[in-house]
Amino acid sequence: MRRALAEEVKRSLRTDFIRIFKENERVLREAGWIVTDEKSPRWWDGVESIDELLISSILVQMTKWETVKRILQKMREKGVNSLERLAELSEEEIGELIRQANFYKTKAKRLKSLASLASSIGVEKLVKDEGMLKEIEGIGDETAEAILLFAGNVPVFPRSNYAKKVLSRVLGIELSKEEAKELIEELFGKDLFNLKLVHAGIVTVGKLYCFSKPKCNSCVFKELCKYYTVSRNETV
Ligand code: SF4
Repeated sequence: MRRALAEEVKRSLRTDFIRIFKENERVLREAGWIVTDEKSPRWWDGVESIDELLISSILVQMTKWETVKRILQKMREKGVNSLERLAELSEEEIGELIRQANFYKTKAKRLKSLASLASSIGVEKLVKDEGMLKEIEGIGDETAEAILLFAGNVPVFPRSNYAKKVLSRVLGIELSKEEAKELIEELFGKDLFNLKLVHAGIVTVGKLYCFSKPKCNSCVFKELCKYYTVSRNETV
């Protein structure tokens, strides 16, 4: 399906996605994304370092982002917001620190493994190694790819259900998660800033508008979305 997209369509998608997301930085912020420098770790709202980004990637699973931010703040105040410091703590001590997170005991165990691995091979190396990341329980394809992109600055587009749903509706063709990923990587190549911006933007659209019953009238994508155009014509 994807290969059938004409070069002209791909060109306009490239231009439209970047224009729309840059024009709507405020909306992205509502969904927890900060549009900032290409290599900054601060794209995830409230995260201040690569270590915090890795810690929050474990904490956020089944937990609200506001709670993750509160835990990070507490860790900062206690001086344990780094993997090196967490590696020195026991699972029980980490559990106490992150008690506000859902499934905190499981997450304490995962953080301990992550911290130990990072201490032995180095954070900089770990965040660029997908295979090693996925050896840690709780880090699957999507989380590993998000870490590669936002912490390792590796130009990959993280696969996600949001990208699958939003891009399928926008293009009016059913895409798998892998096809959605391949399409964005084909459109934006190794452009780190645009890969980050487009991931943040598409997740924002998925989180704020593109539900089972989508809120198309408020959506930043409605001008180019096939689903919206077709459903609007049907109701006229
Ligand atoms: S316009 Fe509607 S269907 Fe299209 S991406 Fe936005 S919310 Fe989803």
